[in-house]
Amino acid sequence: MNDGKVVVDYEKCNYCGRCVKACPTDAWDAKAAYIVSFGGTFGNTISKGKDLLPLVTSEEQLFRITDAAIQFFADNGNASEKRGNS
Ligand code: SF4
Repeated sequence: MNDGKVVVDYEKCNYCGRCVKACPTDAWDAKAAYIVSFGGTFGNTISKGKDLLPLVTSEEQLFRITDAAIQFFADNGNASEKRGNS
C-alpha cells in the first residue's frame, strides 16, 4: 500500500496474473502476454529457465521467437545431447 493505494513491487512481481484474475472490480488494467524463458538440459547440465526477453505481447512474436530458437538448436545443437534424438 502506498498512500492508501495498492502498488505493484515489480522487483518481486513474477507476472503470474493472479491479482488481475482475483480482483472483484476489474480494477487492474492488464493485457495478456507471454513469458519466454530459455533453459533445459544441456548435456548433463541442467540450466534453469532464464527470462532473456521482455514480455511477448502477440502470438506472431511468440512464434517467431520459438521458430528462431528451434532453428538455433537445429544449427548449433549437439545431436547427442538432445532428448529423443538418435
Ligand atoms: S499476483 Fe502475480 S502478477 Fe500480481 S503482483 Fe503478485 S506476482 Fe505480480
